[in-house]
Amino acid sequence: MERTLSIIKPDGVEKNIIGEVIKRFETNGIKIAAMKMIHLSKSQAQGFYAVHKERPFFDSLTDFMTSGPIVVMVLEGEDVISKNRKLMGATNFKDAEEGTIRKEYATDIEKNVVHGSDAPETAAFEIGYFFNDLELHSR
Ligand code: GDP
Repeated sequence: MERTLSIIKPDGVEKNIIGEVIKRFETNGIKIAAMKMIHLSKSQAQGFYAVHKERPFFDSLTDFMTSGPIVVMVLEGEDVISKNRKLMGATNFKDAEEGTIRKEYATDIEKNVVHGSDAPETAAFEIGYFFNDLELHSR
């Protein structure tokens, strides 16, 4: 059993597709172990994306991530890190496979609707960034 962090980014919340994204998880055998809606401060967004701090898009990305509320979730299931990445599609929606969340709903490379951890180590850091053990519910 594996866990990963998923975020519905401000553009996804704004588009009213929270339910659509969650439905894709649930219909693909993924369980939600924790969930909440929050509005990040700039410094909280910078902390979350610290690995990207040298990238040219860091300031724009952290501005975008603070532009409205987000939904953060812990997903649980077998192989859920890669399963979620597959459902999300490529970072740039133009390269994403048909039927993926980003292909259907993203509007540019930055406003790409969802985040998903890319490896077990990043999943552990990202889950711990938003949730404590008491907030996680294996079912
Ligand atoms: P992910 O794992 O698919 O989310 O992609 P990355 O970890 O490479 O990048 C993190 C996030 O930064 C992406 O989801 C985008 O929102 C944003 N991003 C990535 N590449 C670019 C870029 O070239 N320009 C801009 N403006 N944003 C980017």
